[in-house]
Amino acid sequence: MKNIAILGSTGSIGTQTLEVVRQNNDLKVTALAAGQNIDLLEKQIREFRPDIVSVWDEKRAKELALRVQDLPVTVYAGMDGLIACATENTAEIVVTAVVGMIGIKPTIEAIKAHKDIALANKETLVTAGHIIMPLLKEYGVKLLPVDSEHSAIFQALNGEQGNEISRIILTASGGPFRGKKRIDLEQIQLEDALKHPNWAMGRKITIDSSTLINKGLEVMEAKWLFQVELEKIQVVIQPQSIIHSAVEYLDGSIIAQMGTPDMKLPIQYALFYPERRILLGSRVDFFELSKITFEKPDLDTFTGLKLAYEVSKSGGSLPTVYNAANELAVAKFLNREIRYLQIVELIEAAIKNHKKIENPNVEQILNIENETYDFINSIYEKM
Ligand code: NDP
Repeated sequence: MKNIAILGSTGSIGTQTLEVVRQNNDLKVTALAAGQNIDLLEKQIREFRPDIVSVWDEKRAKELALRVQDLPVTVYAGMDGLIACATENTAEIVVTAVVGMIGIKPTIEAIKAHKDIALANKETLVTAGHIIMPLLKEYGVKLLPVDSEHSAIFQALNGEQGNEISRIILTASGGPFRGKKRIDLEQIQLEDALKHPNWAMGRKITIDSSTLINKGLEVMEAKWLFQVELEKIQVVIQPQSIIHSAVEYLDGSIIAQMGTPDMKLPIQYALFYPERRILLGSRVDFFELSKITFEKPDLDTFTGLKLAYEVSKSGGSLPTVYNAANELAVAKFLNREIRYLQIVELIEAAIKNHKKIENPNVEQILNIENETYDFINSIYEKM
């Protein structure tokens, strides 16, 4: 039996993780954490019987505690609750699937409690990679990527320890606006941006996929995870989302991981690594697919990706600003407060306004996040 804790259990990755648990009766959920969706969390408690749960919102946590008083479960709230779930005594592996920088502190505490990490929350490495990577080493803890591209790279590295990577090929579907030019993006509506061609994901990451900012965040995540220079990470558009990413070695061999787009595959792989288990679902049929195509990303249209490389190269606190500015700008776009192209404009403005800190600690990262939000809100009022 393997005990797992899931942070963000009510979200897209969280619910798919629970689907994997349903299919594997040797997984036991010991802790679940959510933001505010107590209706779904209550259902999850009744089905999976965790020992502890946490709800970010204190009032809702109290309401949930009343609803589940018939069960032997303790309900926590806020950051303390999130950390209690991340460090739950019996959990061996923690799936970090909350959205945003809220994931940094619980991930750090989970590592310090010697839990392996199945990492979906890319914001943690993007903003605090310089803190997380040495910590993993210090505590001898494994970090297993859940992001499908990073899982693909991780799989392509299997058995290659000691062999130098000459290039990482990070694939991208190109999102719903692939092939469009900047002028076409001026009138984009929220509904258009929420229609991802291949993947069903949370709303924030779906918008990030459409701007290619998700790919930018993934480039930064890959840099930390696989300890490679940025110049060796090449983004390649592969619209069918069959090749999930690849690694090229010094002899020119390229090892790729392929499959139908299904997040349960990388989730399950992370939970059982290095074992491969049956995963029900459709399989790639090359005859039906008939072709896999490749394109160069259009960096003049999707400037957010270009900016990600610049920000990552400069490093320090800039990735935090990039990420925080994007988070708030996307929230405003989801709220229909700004236009599509203003997402990147707001990120650029926040970066311009920021005075870089070289090696920010966690408190500084979280302060920078708030300062970036304040800055965006102040210029938004003038827009
Ligand atoms: P969703 O928006 O679908 O889910 C987010 C989850 O986080 C929800 O359970 C939400 O709870 C919870 N949450 C939000 N704020 C808090 C908080 N303050 N405290 C505790 N829990 C909180 O996001 P996704 O599942 O799409 O993405 C999660 C992470 O995984 C992101 O970092 C994303 O980039 C990454 N990722 C996602 C992929 C996907 O396919 N979806 C693919 C690869 C990476 P509630 O709903 O109750 O508010």
